[in-house]
Amino acid sequence: MTPEEIERYARHIVLREIGGPGQQRLLNAKLLCIGAGGLGSPALLYLAAAGVGTLGIVDDDTVSLSNLQRQVLHSTKAVGTPKTESAQRALARVNPHVRVVKHPIRLDETNVDALISGYDLVLDGTDNFATRYLVNAACVRAKIPLVSAAMSQWEGQISLYDPAHGGPCYQCVFPEAPAAGLAPNCAQAGVMGALAGVMGSMMAGEAIKQITGAGQVLRGEILIYDSLYGDIRKLKTKPSPTCPICRPAF
Ligand SMILES: [Zn+2]
Repeated sequence: MTPEEIERYARHIVLREIGGPGQQRLLNAKLLCIGAGGLGSPALLYLAAAGVGTLGIVDDDTVSLSNLQRQVLHSTKAVGTPKTESAQRALARVNPHVRVVKHPIRLDETNVDALISGYDLVLDGTDNFATRYLVNAACVRAKIPLVSAAMSQWEGQISLYDPAHGGPCYQCVFPEAPAAGLAPNCAQAGVMGALAGVMGSMMAGEAIKQITGAGQVLRGEILIYDSLYGDIRKLKTKPSPTCPICRPAF
């Protein structure tokens, strides 16, 4: 590390659980964030600030005015520009040493495997079940750990799915998507802006722990935060013996 890097990351290096070796692992890490929206914004900001070597961003959307209430990566001036571009500019302001790789495309069965290959970890901050299942299956195939979070109105949840190391995959825990209309998205149901900040920052925290080996990640556990009442609880999760996604693989 250069003297500038040592100074920039001093508050991480001084942490016993990260130290110089942990910071070096962050500098070498390649993380892919699906979605540069409410959850992706704080996750990407903190991961860039932490000096993660490469940050890939998948998003085919442009910034709209109604995003700005919670998507803190984007500014009023960026309305109308692609989110990957707005994100790259904002992250360069935080930490110019981070390599940002833009993927302004829509994920589907034909491109997901090529896209995630080579990354050490994937963060999923999308707001639809189809993409979550798609990303989960690709991560299982590639044996890449997946940090997945979701939120609605005042409540958020987060877990780290890593069936290659004994945990369940996303589909073990959520075997099928709720019927149409039973799980309204943020546009329909609303979401408290600062909740995105909490859950997205937790995603960055889980990624940092997974990369550095600090503490214990949320593998086999799901954390649920109810911001309306300030209530946090954790539930144990386990692999489903009948999961069609991860059981044939492991
Ligand atoms: Zn599974």
